[in-house]
Amino acid sequence: MLFPAVCPGCQTAVTRAGSVCPDCWANLRFIERPYCEVLGIPFSYDLGKGFLSAQAIAEPPPFARLRAAVIYQELATRLVTALKYGDRTDLVPLMAGWMERAGAELLADADVIVPVPLHARRLWRRKFNQSAELSRAIARKSGVMFRPLALERIKATQTQVGLGQRQRQDNVRGAFRVSEQRRSEVEGRRVLLVDDVYTTGATVASATRALKRAGASDVDVLVFARVAGGGP
Ligand SMILES: [Zn+2]
Repeated sequence: MLFPAVCPGCQTAVTRAGSVCPDCWANLRFIERPYCEVLGIPFSYDLGKGFLSAQAIAEPPPFARLRAAVIYQELATRLVTALKYGDRTDLVPLMAGWMERAGAELLADADVIVPVPLHARRLWRRKFNQSAELSRAIARKSGVMFRPLALERIKATQTQVGLGQRQRQDNVRGAFRVSEQRRSEVEGRRVLLVDDVYTTGATVASATRALKRAGASDVDVLVFARVAGGGP
């Protein structure tokens, strides 16, 4: 497939496909330390090693650590949309490369990489699971075992857009499972769960619980973009 060499952010010409122009690059907000060691929420000043966000203390997530490459805003949103609906699979190496850098510590500890799956019906319509494609590229480069079918989406959930936190939790409750035949792919292993975007965390929390029910020793989460909120 041939891709146009245009920036996914502003549609201007770039020298090669699958890249972002310098202006848009400057508008991306890459997440660097200091951040919450659990939720990866960036802090505006350094509070010392191991400092946690109020959110991570008030509501400890079921997963161990979350890392994200960029803040979910403007260009990051356009990149995710271009990948999800716009068939810009040429963006996968770029986005996966940023994720690999953000999740280096998680990758070093991971036994297996598992993407958040789409429901079969939605996958059939869209033909493409962006989380699976991102995690496939990350697995290939890092050499960590890739198990794209370990997790199954058994509930055709409605889109989370426009739902409040409680509704989102209800919407994805019991949405995932690890089938009996695939249990050995995660049992006793530290899983790196990969998704494109983290907003309220309801989806990855539900997926984490399913992995743990199947015997995963622990779960870390790596996403392309996360919402900013909650840091000091
Ligand atoms: Zn641009």
